Amino acid sequence: MQIAAVADGIFRIPIPVPIPLRWVNCYALKGPDGWTLVDTGFHDPGAEAAWREAMGRLGIRPGDVEQILVTHYHPDHLGAAGWLQAVTCAPVVRMPERDAALVPVVWDRRGEQAGNLVAFLRRHGMPAEVAEVVREQHLQHGCLLEPLPARLQPIADGEELRIGGRRMQAIWMPGHSEGLMVFLDLEDGLCLLSDMLLMKITPNVALWPWGIPDPLAAFLESLDRMARLPVRLGLTGHRDLIPDVPGRAREIREHHARRLEEVRVLCRAAGPRGLTGWELSRGLFGDQSSIHNQRFAMAEALAHAEHLVQRGELVREEEEGGTVRYRLA
Ligand SMILES: [Zn+2]
Repeated sequence: MQIAAVADGIFRIPIPVPIPLRWVNCYALKGPDGWTLVDTGFHDPGAEAAWREAMGRLGIRPGDVEQILVTHYHPDHLGAAGWLQAVTCAPVVRMPERDAALVPVVWDRRGEQAGNLVAFLRRHGMPAEVAEVVREQHLQHGCLLEPLPARLQPIADGEELRIGGRRMQAIWMPGHSEGLMVFLDLEDGLCLLSDMLLMKITPNVALWPWGIPDPLAAFLESLDRMARLPVRLGLTGHRDLIPDVPGRAREIREHHARRLEEVRVLCRAAGPRGLTGWELSRGLFGDQSSIHNQRFAMAEALAHAEHLVQRGELVREEEEGGTVRYRLA
């Protein structure tokens, strides 16, 4: 993938990432007082090389970067922020406030959260050998965030930011992560979407032990608000840009309505014994090719099941031994 000018003063920089998505779209916005870089990739040699090449091509030298923005706490967006700050001498790294608060919780250096994650996945029926690989991957991802920026300056919902040559409003759109924000230029309708909406694939909506109890409810509400925003072009965190943002928001909403119906059908078929999150994810997504995908499929299945619990359609029950099962109410 190539660096491309996608709007006046905005360049998309594809950074390779060591997960099945393969690339994260980072952006460089040129302003009268310097550059703003948005999102960063994991910190690995591939990302370093891609950033050095991009900065060379765009003529960005140390001292030219005013700020680095990270749209949410996921490692493919946050990972290289500390390194990038060091090489560009950017005075600040900013991040939506709720996700900034989650960074030390999710990416704790002692690996406590990896243990919580494994216990959570095991309670929801993931086989031990799969959960152990998830633990290793979570710890590996933590290493690919080093060094974290010394300070993450929080961005508040509704705050107006100068990004490159534009004034953009930060709009909190929780669901894909607790704190994710999009940045909208109200003058020309250009919006930095991050992973709020994606083309062809749907943003992962996942239940995690450190997260909110009903992420799907938050995401559906965000989709409704997104569909009403005056956006002319959406700049996404992965894959293609989105010309029809309200239309894509509605499509993704319909996708989740269908998926919720699949969950009801599977739980009905399972009868009074119900299903674990692991069984549900196998029913919804089949046999995933990688453990990374199995982890995210299961967290996505759990987000749908928990949403139906909150709506009173499913009940969550804990067996002796601690395994959690979902059945129709
Ligand atoms: Zn993400």
